[in-house]
Amino acid sequence: DPGTDYVLTARGLTKRFGGFAAVNNVDLSIRRGSVHALIGPNGAGKTTCFNLLTKTLTPTSGVITYDGQDITRIRAADVARLGLVRSFQISATFTQMTALENVRVALQSNHGTGYHFWSPIRSLRNLDARAKELLDQVGLADMADAKAADLSYGKKRALEIATTLALEPQVMLLDEPTAGMGHEDLEPITELIRETAKGRTVVIVEHNLSIVATLCDRITVLQHGEVLTEGSYAEVSSDERVITAYMGG
Ligand code: ADP
Repeated sequence: DPGTDYVLTARGLTKRFGGFAAVNNVDLSIRRGSVHALIGPNGAGKTTCFNLLTKTLTPTSGVITYDGQDITRIRAADVARLGLVRSFQISATFTQMTALENVRVALQSNHGTGYHFWSPIRSLRNLDARAKELLDQVGLADMADAKAADLSYGKKRALEIATTLALEPQVMLLDEPTAGMGHEDLEPITELIRETAKGRTVVIVEHNLSIVATLCDRITVLQHGEVLTEGSYAEVSSDERVITAYMGG
């Protein structure tokens, strides 16, 4: 059933800034359970496309469906509640909190009114236990009490993944999870993404092609706001048009 094979789709997705189409008539079908990359040279429209899929931007035209439901006009917070969740960089306020506190806040936002100041201590204990589990899952068990600001670059990215997982995503969207990362952090973050992809769908904008090669089942190549081609890494990386696009910019 093609309706259930694809958890996230875009049809005719277009975003204009003034007269300029940053994303132009893009069709995307993200298969349930896959790790799907959006790649392309600088200015190809990857970030804009990502922001459209995560509802951070509203499309000029086109339709986005999630789990068969038209979400084109649904707000980001509401699609997050449905299980379509993007990672966010830990903002300035949150860098002063500990790793554990960051995950706790994410859990609280997920459970809405479930956890409050006046919650019974048992619930708060459950909350902490769950936060610790998530930190453990991303390899930050010993860093629970470290300030987010004091974590290494790679560990900050891992913490961001933990706060994303707190929202129990069915589809997790990651914007350049390895950007600016030192070589020593690449393998752990790749392994972490592979682990967290189990049982869910991951959409990733990624510049590092060797990461895309090892992690992704399916790759959509964008150029000038349009889909240049789509396929496995072997298929797209041997496509002359893709090679030319990367060399020619
Ligand atoms: P990529 O992520 O692939 O580098 P972007 O989606 O960031 O590409 O940008 C695609 C094109 O749209 C670029 O030419 C960029 O300058 C333009 N663009 C992106 N955002 C805006 C905006 N808010 N206003 C005007 N132009 C934009």
